[in-house]
Amino acid sequence: MFKNFKSVSKCVYGIGSLNDLGKILEEKRQENNQYMVFLVDDYFKGKELVDKLPLQPNDMLEFIYAGGDEPKTSQIDELRDRILSTKGLPAGVIGIGGGSLMDIAKATALMLTNEGSSVQYQGLNLIKKEGVYHVGIPTISGTGAEVSMTAVLTGPTKKLGLKCDWTVFDQIILDPSLIASVPRNDWFYTGMDTYIHCIESMTGRLKNTFSEAYGYKSLELCREVYLYEGCGQNATNDEKLMVASYFGGLSLTYSEVGVCHALSYGMSYVFGSRHCIANCIIFNQLEDYYPEGVKEFKEMVRKNNIHIPSNLSKDWTEAEIEKMIDICWALTHMWKHAIGEDWEQKLTRQQIKDLYLRM
Ligand code: NAD
Ligand code: ZN
Repeated sequence: MFKNFKSVSKCVYGIGSLNDLGKILEEKRQENNQYMVFLVDDYFKGKELVDKLPLQPNDMLEFIYAGGDEPKTSQIDELRDRILSTKGLPAGVIGIGGGSLMDIAKATALMLTNEGSSVQYQGLNLIKKEGVYHVGIPTISGTGAEVSMTAVLTGPTKKLGLKCDWTVFDQIILDPSLIASVPRNDWFYTGMDTYIHCIESMTGRLKNTFSEAYGYKSLELCREVYLYEGCGQNATNDEKLMVASYFGGLSLTYSEVGVCHALSYGMSYVFGSRHCIANCIIFNQLEDYYPEGVKEFKEMVRKNNIHIPSNLSKDWTEAEIEKMIDICWALTHMWKHAIGEDWEQKLTRQQIKDLYLRM
């Protein structure tokens, strides 16, 4: 069974490419109620980026805080209801920010045309109707959310994406100058999401040449950004990191993520830990599964003088650990990829618990 993946329809790349947004939106503005919704990470409130947006009088501009909890189903439902009751169906939605804003934009575009709560669409191909036109403009690189076919949301019972062909952005704008202001720790944690995507996609049962081609290039770019001579946060490396994120996203789309992501989903669900830092905390302890990847990851941590939290499990209750294992255990597709079809014969809940206790 091979993957038949819908990729982003249009992509513009390059420093200053944000300036193309007005022209890109022009031909789409006649759709529906002829206005655009701009969803922007509230870090940019009062910043130069907002002055550059091609806002027209009828457009809607919403600043969204992305520094707390990860996007929630209730947040999307509320936003969708508010947009529809204020101005009706927009011509399009433009998301500007990190993985959180990418997911919020993708989910909102879908939920504008699908009735009920986004909770009922968490899963694969549950969305009934195509959403409105949507554009993604990442301002922090690593998650690959700009290219993926999922909009990850935390709901009342699970953290799971709205995943279907229509989720994928119609247009993305990759302007490396937008990531220059990312704080150092976020630059590292989010960039490492790409590194981990590639290591996991290239070391499981589903690995294949197509996925590996993207993975090798993405890993090479990650090494230039975080490890080799000339590494560090600067304009040249920002260009590389933005491409690494995109390629890493394609690598995992054509394969699958593995042990780190399975454990990470459990941790995010129970403690609300943010995806990228949770991945770093977990990957740091996964030598048994990814010996070379973890060794190199640790070198990058040292080289960039980044603190990866540890010694956390001492404060966790038995019930919290059990809940994490439940969430993690349910990610069958990741375990099949990482361990094999017969993963339930090879893995026990106790082994997962032992991994969590290393954190
Ligand atoms: P984020 O959107 O969570 O933002 C992290 C922080 O960086 C925020 O405080 C934000 O305000 C700040 N920030 C963003 N751009 C900035 C800039 N240019 N300058 C200064 N600060 C900036 O970042 P993320 O790590 O990219 O995304 C994490 C989210 O992505 C999680 O919710 C996770 O579930 C999701 N995710 C989605 C996918 C997918 O395929 N859809 C994949 C992985 C992760
Ligand atoms: Zn990830």
